[in-house]
Amino acid sequence: MSDAAILVLNAGSSSLKFSLFPPGAGAQARIQGQIERIHDDPLFTVRGETSAKTVLGTGHRGHARCLDYLLGWLAPRARVIAAGHRVVHGGIHYDAPVRVDATVMERLRHLIPLAPLHQPHNLAAIDLLREMDPALPQVACFDTAFHATKLPPASIFALPREWAERGVRRYGFHGLSYEYVARTLAREQPRLAAGRVVVAHLGSGASMCALRGGRSLDSSMGFTAVDGLPMGTRCGTLDAGVVLFMIREQGLSPDEVELMLYNRSGLLGVSGLSNDMRTLAASADPRAAEAIELFVFRITQQLGALAAAMEGLDGLVFTAGIGENSPDIRARVLNKCAWLGFELDPVANQANAALVTTPTSPRPALVVPTNEELMIAIHTGEVVGRTAM
Ligand code: ADP
Repeated sequence: MSDAAILVLNAGSSSLKFSLFPPGAGAQARIQGQIERIHDDPLFTVRGETSAKTVLGTGHRGHARCLDYLLGWLAPRARVIAAGHRVVHGGIHYDAPVRVDATVMERLRHLIPLAPLHQPHNLAAIDLLREMDPALPQVACFDTAFHATKLPPASIFALPREWAERGVRRYGFHGLSYEYVARTLAREQPRLAAGRVVVAHLGSGASMCALRGGRSLDSSMGFTAVDGLPMGTRCGTLDAGVVLFMIREQGLSPDEVELMLYNRSGLLGVSGLSNDMRTLAASADPRAAEAIELFVFRITQQLGALAAAMEGLDGLVFTAGIGENSPDIRARVLNKCAWLGFELDPVANQANAALVTTPTSPRPALVVPTNEELMIAIHTGEVVGRTAM
């Protein structure tokens, strides 16, 4: 009999990322992998205990066939006892991971318009797995949940209060990443973790979070994951009047506005070249330089805003693709924030070291590689353990 395992799924529009964890908190993934290009020419890659790279062929196009392939591939290798899913939006109903049933799915479907890049694909994977294996316990882990502790003024808009009662409030996202970073800091830097820390999750999606004593007090993202920092293709914070102008004066439909704000803006929109930071960093085009400058400017603005929300700042943590791997972006941010007490260590920064400020810097800046999958596995194990029949 093969070993029991928790399957972690992060289903996106064109990729299905998966990991397999042994049950029990704090363990490393046995395998991690993904199926990319799922609507086109699906490519299956896996690393860990075993590694593989297989072009699945056009016969496996689509989420359903790819998931079916994955389950078939896993069957002889592991006894999957539960599946944990990354679900971007939990709305007002869910501020903790939850075992999925029909009521949960109904509520989560209502949130699709609030996270159009992620939520429909997250939910589609749950639906497909329920059809393929109805008895398998499935747990939804939300990017919003970690922010349930936010300061009250950081949680509402200055709109008539009935809008807040309808769920129009500032939630915050990337919560699984922030939760992992908070746990890691508590273990490795307990004094800093007890204080006031800003975490910058800088990936394709990007946001920042103010942590005090490991709890979220504020975040750059709001009602939806299009708020805050400019991202790969998302615009970030925008004067609401721009949306009205696009609709009234330029005749854009709501769907066209959505496409503009979510898919055509951010680094891609400003550079006109790419949503990928590596491509922009390697480009001599002045528009690429301008996009990077804007990204850095907005990070430093947000850092000031989040420090103000916490009434102080003890340290800064960089995480996710850009945060973990781009010495250039970190150096620019830290140099612009020297006034906040960050003294860059260029050698450590170039090496992507854990501490990228000098030992005598008044405040430390760290790099903590994130691991959202591990958080999902831990939550899934806990929820299934609690709700086992
Ligand atoms: P997501 O998980 O949200 O898809 P990631 O956290 O993987 O995104 O981050 C992707 C981003 O990280 C891309 O913009 C990519 O260019 C950037 N990135 C990855 N490695 C580097 C690097 N060495 N230098 C600069 N940017 C990098």
